[in-house]
Amino acid sequence: MNVVLISTYELGHQPFGLASPAAWLKAAGATVTCFDLAVSHLDRDVIAEADLIAFYVPMHTATRIAGQFIPRVRSINPHAHLCAYGLYAPLNADYLRGLGVTTILGGEFEEGLVAVYRLLLPSPENRSRFWGEGLWVKQSEPMISLARQNFLTPDRSGLPHLSKYAYLDRVDGCKKVVGYTETTRGCKHLCRHCPIVPVYNGQFRVVPFDVVIDDIEQQMEAGAGHITFGDPDFFNGPGHTIPIVEKFHQLWAFATYDVTIKIEHLLKYARWLPVLRDTGCLFITSAVEAVDDAILEVFDKHHTRADFVKAAALLKDNGLTLNPTFVAFNPWISLSGYRDLLQTIAELDLIDHVATVQYAIRLLIPAGSKLLDRSDVQQLSGPFDQAALVYPWAHLDPRVDLLYEAVLASVTEAQAAGFSRGEIFDRVWAITAHALNDARPSPRPDRASTPIPHLSESWYC
Ligand code: SF4
Repeated sequence: MNVVLISTYELGHQPFGLASPAAWLKAAGATVTCFDLAVSHLDRDVIAEADLIAFYVPMHTATRIAGQFIPRVRSINPHAHLCAYGLYAPLNADYLRGLGVTTILGGEFEEGLVAVYRLLLPSPENRSRFWGEGLWVKQSEPMISLARQNFLTPDRSGLPHLSKYAYLDRVDGCKKVVGYTETTRGCKHLCRHCPIVPVYNGQFRVVPFDVVIDDIEQQMEAGAGHITFGDPDFFNGPGHTIPIVEKFHQLWAFATYDVTIKIEHLLKYARWLPVLRDTGCLFITSAVEAVDDAILEVFDKHHTRADFVKAAALLKDNGLTLNPTFVAFNPWISLSGYRDLLQTIAELDLIDHVATVQYAIRLLIPAGSKLLDRSDVQQLSGPFDQAALVYPWAHLDPRVDLLYEAVLASVTEAQAAGFSRGEIFDRVWAITAHALNDARPSPRPDRASTPIPHLSESWYC
């Protein structure tokens, strides 16, 4: 039986979310074809011959793009069973079902995909489950599964080569091919604005040590010199992840890697930072989100502005590069609060560390967001927008929304023109100062910028 797995976008990485289920489905006997539409095209003939077509939707952008492709796939093959899986599938179940998707799988999805495949195999028992043109009446798998699975080594053989994806710019003239893997999924925290929370609800699941190492090995053999560990938080289970990076360094001492760790964990597990540095960690992404304690409280981030300052110093002392991310525009930030964010970034000497898209990140309120439990969010957000897949919101101070639009336009234009991070910071500062009617000059230090290692595709949701 023919199965097609489709990824639309995964931040420039070769999708783990295709490679992992491809291994499971092949082991179950399926003929699997993978399409990563971020770097390749659909093949009409393969789609037309498919019995099961599954879209991987791990994030907001991926889901929106999938929404454009699903009707096209349906028109090529009206008989295939359509599935959507990944974090955003259950959050947008109604929308996806409206497009003709029958099965929705969130959380740990590999077992569910194999179960759907088995149910589609022709057999007298299965025939009774079907009606019309190959669609069964209702989904038999749970929409969200947090079952502990016996992971298999992802099968990356059907995916575009790693060189087609985002690369590491080490800034010393060296560009490295980047691989991607996951040692855990989900998160043990409950940050209110995070899309992981409605699905994993404070739980995380572990990918076994040997599976992770085997997955890295196959990517090293394919030419990778750097690995992104895509865990939502690498220190959710340091007892699991530290031995992995120690083994990583023992096997591939020439290679580097990056991880994502929350501010709270950077402080709590500071003793592990030297190990990260000594095993090849090049930079750590951390979702700082805001520098205003009241906003951090709304997000339930479990860190304060002072914690951020401490963590930035800690990483510097340990020779590790911080890659901070922000939800710069949100309903609780003021014009002066936005300037304070810029000022803090400058004071901590992080201007070169901040990917410029971060200055224009606006809070997304997806379906299922825990923010919707708050009465102020209910009041300021409109009805769910099916096209944008968010609850749209407007700031109580319209000047903040105007500032957002001006910053977004300026950053987009400056990025296209090849401006440096420092130059873009100056532009954003000037726009903000204008909005505040305050001609204070940019606090950027009067010295040459220090480029830092980063991936060619910036992190955003
Ligand atoms: S720590 Fe990060 S991944 Fe975990 S819930 Fe908070 S924002 Fe989400």
